[in-house]
This record gives sequence, C-alpha cells and structure tokens, in this order.
Amino acid sequence: MSTEQLIDGYNRRIDYLRMSVTDRCDFRCVYCMAEDMQFLPRQRVLTLDELVTLAERFVALGTRKIRLTGGEPLVRNGIVDLCRRIAALPGLRELCMTTNGSQLSRLAQPLFDAGLARVNVSLDSLDPTRFRELTRTGDLQQVIAGIDAARAAGFRRIKLNCVVLKGRNDDEIGDLVRFAIDRGLDITFIEEMPLGIISEHSRAESFCSSQEVRERIGERYTLIESAESSQGPSRYWRLAEAPDTRIGFISPHSHNFCGTCNRVRLTVEGRLLLCLGNEHASDLKAVLRAHPGQPERIDRAIREALAHKPYRHNFEVNDDVQIVRFMNMTGG
Ligand code: SAM
Ligand code: SF4
Repeated sequence: MSTEQLIDGYNRRIDYLRMSVTDRCDFRCVYCMAEDMQFLPRQRVLTLDELVTLAERFVALGTRKIRLTGGEPLVRNGIVDLCRRIAALPGLRELCMTTNGSQLSRLAQPLFDAGLARVNVSLDSLDPTRFRELTRTGDLQQVIAGIDAARAAGFRRIKLNCVVLKGRNDDEIGDLVRFAIDRGLDITFIEEMPLGIISEHSRAESFCSSQEVRERIGERYTLIESAESSQGPSRYWRLAEAPDTRIGFISPHSHNFCGTCNRVRLTVEGRLLLCLGNEHASDLKAVLRAHPGQPERIDRAIREALAHKPYRHNFEVNDDVQIVRFMNMTGG
C-alpha cells in the first residue's frame, strides 16, 4: 500500500476524492438543473478506462476514500464494472456512491457484489406529486423500491440526503426522519447551495437553515449533539427516541466546514476542482491524453494543483450566482 500523502498549502491532508462519472441524469431536480439542460458530447467525457486510471493515480498518492457521483452515476453505461475496477485498487479503503436511487432496484445487488461499500440516496419528499415536482421527472415509488433493494442487497449505513427548501418540503422534515428511523437509515439535511442559474425559485426565499431544520425535528424528537464524524462536512446529532439513526446537517451557509476539508472533486470532463465554492481547477484530462502511459505526469499535475487549493468557500444567501457551474457538472 502506498505511503504517499497529498497535503495542501494549508497543511490539510487530502485523502477523499469525489468523482463525477457523468453529467447526465434521469431527473431534473429544481435546485440542481435547468429544465432544458445541454449535456456534454461524448469526446469531452472521460472514458471508463480514463476514470480508472485517474482513480488509480489518486489512490497511489494516498486517497483512501472515493465517492462516485454525477449527474446520476447509475445512468452511466458500465457503472458496475467501473465500481469493480475501482474497488479493487490496492490501498483504497472505501468506495461509496451518491445516487438518486431510480435505478437501484435493478443495480443494488450487482453494485454490492462489485465492492461498492456504501450508498447515499437523495430523497426530498414522501409525497408522490411533490416528489415529481421537485425532481421534474422522478417517480417516488421507484426510488423507495430502490432504497429497499439496497437494504436487501446488504448495504449498511445507507444515508438519505435531503435538500430542504422553505415552502416546498420543509413541512415534511419530521416525516422524513420517521421514514429513516423505520428503515434503519441515517439522514442528512442539506442547505441549498448557489450552484448554477435556476429559474424556478428564489434561493433567498427558499433558504432553510440547519438551525430551523433542527427546530422542526425538535418538535417531535429529542436531539442530542454528537461528536462523531463521517470525515465529511456533516455534523451529526442522535435522537433520544431512536439512537441508531444519525441525523446529519450540511450547512455551508451557517457553518463553514472548510478548515478541516479533506477532499477534492474530479468532474467527468477531467477537471480537478479544488473547492466546491471556487473556480480553481486543473485539467487532468489534457495531461492524461497528452502523455499516455506516463502516470508520473498525472501525479505531478495533481500535486501542483493541490498547492492551489483555496482555504475556504464563500457562499452567500442571495440570488447572485457566484458559481456558474451546475451541481451535476461539479459532482455533488
Ligand atoms: N444524482 C445523484 C443524487 O441526486 O444523489 C448524485 C449527484 S447530486 C448533484 C448530489 C447531491 O447534491 C444530491 O443529494 C443533491 O440533492 C445535492 N444537490 C444538488 N444541487 C444542490 C444545491 N444547489 N444545493 C445543495 N445540494 C444540492
Ligand atoms: Fe440529477 Fe442528482 Fe441533480 Fe437531482 S440532484 S438533477 S438526481 S444530479
């Protein structure tokens, strides 16, 4: 196993890579995409072999955890085989995925068998009509069947991700917590981030802080703050009434988590994004395609990029978009 480490300019150890495997998606969630999205032409997208090569270089340089995301990772052809190849990289401790769950009924078991260790499934509403409105195309029953298929396949510590929008789903917070408890899942509530230009709602009006979400949960349950961490930006709480369920909060506005940042993102175009909230990036696809068979060139580019990782993001709660790329391009 490699003893290499990636350390950025602020002495943070970067050992977590979020890899986008596609910018495409079968949903069009209102906070994530415009209704009529233009997706990337195939030649601009990393091939499966290129994705494996880049994952291999990151693991060789000390990455211990990789999360596959997108877009919707399960709409990428060959995703099960990609998981198998990445999960087998010596030195990688955990391969995870964030998915909208729409294809899990079919793919949960093959993914588990391929070595995928954990899944996070996005779920913003338990009302079929509202679920359709928020995702524009999604089918709630299909996603719930997918979550159940993941449980049956053997996945442990499945986590739900819920973006809370005031006036659209904030009245469902208690029901979503109940759903998580009943199925033995964890759940994380996410503050909406200003990524990409959306037209359907005003981000300033829909903003719901993690503190407000906790107050809602507090109307039904007793929240106990916990010191545990999943080595991500979530802060966790437990419930006195259901101690097995962890309630996470990702609060980019109200709680800045940059000081302990341990991650970078790779877009499916091969751009290494050093921070979710900044444009600093390095084009690894260009290096990979210009120097085939020369892994040391990629390693050097990754190390050089890390030196430019910014200290922190600076999201503001208003409608001025600071980052023009959409979340599906960023690899959420
Ligand atoms: N398609 C997969 C899914 O929905 O889980 C993976 C990609 S999606 C971009 C990853 C996560 O980002 C999802 O949980 C989604 O809810 C969240 N997300 C997307 N746009 C967001 C935004 N503007 N602010 C906060 N979270 C966002
Ligand atoms: Fe697709 Fe995920 Fe974005 Fe929703 S949040 S549109 S499921 S990529």
